[in-house]
Amino acid sequence: MTITKNYQRIRAEIPDYVTIVTAAKTRTADEVRELIDAGVTDIGENYVQETEEIQKQLGHDIKRMHWHLIGHLQANKINKALKLFDTIQTLDSMKLASAINNHLKQTLPVLIEINSGREPQKTGVVPEEAEKLIRNISTLEKISVKGLMTMGPRFGNPENARLYYRETKKLFDHIDSLDIPGVEMTVLSMGMSNAYHIAIEEGSTMIRLGTILFGKRM
Ligand SMILES: *Cc1c(COP(=O)(O)O)cnc(C)c1O
Repeated sequence: MTITKNYQRIRAEIPDYVTIVTAAKTRTADEVRELIDAGVTDIGENYVQETEEIQKQLGHDIKRMHWHLIGHLQANKINKALKLFDTIQTLDSMKLASAINNHLKQTLPVLIEINSGREPQKTGVVPEEAEKLIRNISTLEKISVKGLMTMGPRFGNPENARLYYRETKKLFDHIDSLDIPGVEMTVLSMGMSNAYHIAIEEGSTMIRLGTILFGKRM
């Protein structure tokens, strides 16, 4: 029951308005089911195929869960992804957004992924280009922008992530102040196992936790 205990401890120590998304990559259906039984409602997955398999194993329980794609979406997997996920947290280009929009029958909530560390090899849009991208995406009929997501650079010392969270929150407030039709800034998804406290201090409303719930990945 370690996973349950880990979840309950963190749930009790963070504010109620913060959603915990369990980052379930590489975890088994049994491990994920333990969290569902403990009260988790939001599950994050990085890969389409892995999600397909785990949803099959979990059976009818999956319908009660909210599934978040937190990994990068490849254009050739859009159709499959739309059957598996309720929210896509990693939208970072107009090209991908319009391809998704063309596949949609009903409105899809998305978060825009911000490359807050401006790391060239990383996914996400750099902060300077986020407003333009969001204005463009807002013209797409079936995509509904609900907020921002960021990873931030990985450091040994979690305190070093603070700057990137702070900048993403500033961008979040800026986009909010623009009142772009069809764009809502309600979700700010940032903070992982090593620095979720700091992310919450800097304005996060959604943390994505793997290691601290499940233990180290094998
Ligand atoms: C794996 C992952 C997490 C969780 O990372 P931990 O350090 O294990 O908590 C969060 N977000 C994304 C996008 C991930 O891929």
